Order: sequence, then C-alpha cells, then structure tokens
Amino acid sequence: MISVEEALEKLLSNVEVLAKEEVAVLDSLGQVLVEDVYSDIDVPPLDNSAMDGYAVRSSDTLGAGPQSPRLFRVIDTVAAGSISESEVTAGTAVRIMTGAPVPNGADAVVRFEDTDEVSRQEISGGKPITEVGILCEAGVGLNIRQAGEDIRRGFRILAEGTVIRPAEVGVLASLGRNKATVISRPVVAILSTGNELVEVGQPLPTGKIYNSNSYSVAALVRRYGGIPRMLGIALDSEDSLVEALRRGLDADMLITSGGVSVGDYDVVKDVLAKEGEIGFWTVRMKPGKPLAFGTIRGVDKQGAPRRIPHLGLPGNPVSSMVTFEMFARPAIFKMMGKKNWAKPTVEAVLEDGIVNTDGRRVFTRAIIEKREGRYFARLTGPQGSGVLTSMSQANGLAIVPEDWAEARPGDIVRVLMLDWNEEVI
Ligand code: AMP
Ligand code: MG
Repeated sequence: MISVEEALEKLLSNVEVLAKEEVAVLDSLGQVLVEDVYSDIDVPPLDNSAMDGYAVRSSDTLGAGPQSPRLFRVIDTVAAGSISESEVTAGTAVRIMTGAPVPNGADAVVRFEDTDEVSRQEISGGKPITEVGILCEAGVGLNIRQAGEDIRRGFRILAEGTVIRPAEVGVLASLGRNKATVISRPVVAILSTGNELVEVGQPLPTGKIYNSNSYSVAALVRRYGGIPRMLGIALDSEDSLVEALRRGLDADMLITSGGVSVGDYDVVKDVLAKEGEIGFWTVRMKPGKPLAFGTIRGVDKQGAPRRIPHLGLPGNPVSSMVTFEMFARPAIFKMMGKKNWAKPTVEAVLEDGIVNTDGRRVFTRAIIEKREGRYFARLTGPQGSGVLTSMSQANGLAIVPEDWAEARPGDIVRVLMLDWNEEVI
C-alpha cells in the first residue's frame, strides 16, 4: 500500500498545465491569468466628488461654521457623467453629485448636510437656489477622489498567476477589458462502469441501481472549475468499456468509477492496460483503498498521439467522492495552473469515537460546528462507503491518522473542510 501523498505525487507527475485561451471576462472566474495586466487608463479618470454637495475653493470656507455661514453664489449643477464648463472662482460654488468631475478652480466639496441648502429650498418652494451658505471649513481635497487613486495608467494591476475571483473580474472590467487570457479549463470525461447501473430518469428494474457516481463526480469537476463530459455507463465487459472509452479520448483527463477492485467483473484494469499504461494502487486510506491511475493513448486536436491521464475511482459512492477530493481535485487545479491545491483544514474536538482497524488514514464524514471559539466534529451516522447521504450531511472529513488504532471523544483531529458555511465560520 502507498500513502495518500505518494499516490498524489505520482498522479501529479503525469498531469500537465494546460494551454492558454482567451475568454470573456465573466467566464474567466476561477481560472488563472497568464498575462500581466497593465492599465492604459487612470481609474477614476478625473478628480471627482465622493459626495453630493458643493464644489468650492477651500480657502473661501475659512472661518465657516454653523453659526458663521459663508455665502456662495451657485453658478452651475453637475451630475455624474457630465462635465461642468463653469470655473469656480472666489465666492462661487458648483452644485455637484457623487462621481461628477470636480470643476476647474474648486479644490474641495462640502456635502449638502454641511450647507443650509434644505432651508433655502423650502423658502424657494423647490426652485433652484442661487445662493448657499456653507457651514463648515473645508480642507484642501475634502470629499474629492483623485484621478488614478484606484488604478494608475501604465502600472501593472494584476499579475500573471492570479486566480480570478469576482473582485478580479470587476478590476478587469474597470479597465474596460472584455476578455482575459487564462489557462484553459480541463475537459474531464466521466465514465461509470457496472452491469447494475441504470441511467437516471429511467425506470429501475429489480436488481439494478441508479448511476449516481457520474453525477457526483461531474458536479465535483464543475465545482472545481473543470468541464465535465458525460460518457454514460459501460457494462462490465471489455467491448463495452473500450467503446465508451474511445468516445472520451480527446478530453484532458478521464475519470472512471468502479471496476477497480478484485471482483470477477472488475475488467477496467485489463482494458486500461491494453489501451495505455496503467498503475494499480492500493492507497493507505479509508474509504478509497483501490485506486487506478495511468495514461491512455489518445490523439490531440491535430491528430497527433498523446497520453491522457486516467483516474480510476472506486465504485462505492462515498469512496469515489472522497478519492476525487484527494486526487482528482489537485489534478484539475494543476491543469488549470493553480499553485495551491490544499483543502482548507481546521483542528476540531472529536465528539464520537472512531476505530482504525488496519492502519489506513480514515476520512470520516463529519458535521463541524464552531462553539465558543472551538471547532467540534461529530460523525454523520453510519460510515459505510455506500452511504452517500453521509456525504450530503457532512461539511467536513475528520481524519484519523494511519498510526492511530482509534480516536476517542475529546481527541483533537484534523478536519478537511468540504464546505465553509455560516454555521461553521
Ligand atoms: P465496484 O468498485 O465496481 O466493485 O463497485 C463497488 C460498489 O459501488 C458496488 O456496490 C456498486 O454497485 C457501486 N457502484 C459502482 N458504480 C456506481 C455508480 N456509478 N453509481 C452508484 N453506485 C455505484
Ligand atoms: Mg462494478
């Protein structure tokens, strides 16, 4: 048996970072930038007002206060998106809205609340006022956002290697960019094997079960940024498997589920050995002991031969999801050019006991809660690798190390977080 780390290292050494592509800015969410992004504009482009108020010369407000207003002549009004042609000179003010460029001559904006505008408007009966009293002293630059204070023309704004999050999508848009050059998303072909499997949406004959693995695996692929390609179900026969596999040979990675243990019908390993180079491992983890990994002979877009990484997950629904998290997720991240593929972990106080019978690393489905500043982990219930609802109830995988024969209530264990939700944070 090899360790989780050894298995991951072997797998990742067979997985390459994909080529770059240009995509619409919104579609780049979660992808890795492969260009340094420079700005050819200032953001904001002009000095502009941070408040609704009056643009004035700050020196004219000296001595102003609630009891000693300074009177200004209102010479113009300017809204965001317009430019005032008026120049602010001694004793004059331009009424200005948030985001509007500051008119020439002005060096401060006094917000409406620090003027007597409201009482004057009451007197004028809603007609535009021609004079306003300023009720505070305004320092130079008050309520003015300077041109380029966010983004300066000519500067590098985003570095190659940045993972695009919503904020980066927004930053690219604020530069006027509608495209980004990023590392491609891997297309992951997904094939479930088993004579017992029936496609969802069909009636369920006696003795059969629905194919859930294709769906949980495809959902994981999508969650981690890949593009799932469903190859459907293959029977436990060489012909059926070969036929199905050939439909996925232009993908960036192939994931199968089932057929990798030592049962009579576990033909995946024989077929894959013929179609490529296949390694079979027993990994020191529970669930997920039997795992296949190899490369399959395929062709690239130009028809040249290439090798496609293949990950053969165990068929049990929990095992396939847990081994996906441990192996397929890092592979997808590597292909996408991400540098950090560790899952977030916390230390938690265990509330249930767990036995570890054969020296494997045990990943138990757990509900993690934070109480009085500490994390607590309790098991979801029955931990059989066929109990898929245990994954659905869990927000984390509590880990019992290989060299622990058991974990007792009160022990501190490491937990891989599957989700961070409000209840945990
Ligand atoms: P196998 O690894 O093929 O021996 O399968 C192990 C267990 O997982 C068996 O009970 C299978 O019926 C079940 N199983 C295999 N593939 C799937 C699938 N795609 N969806 C749901 N259960 C599956
Ligand atoms: Mg099977």
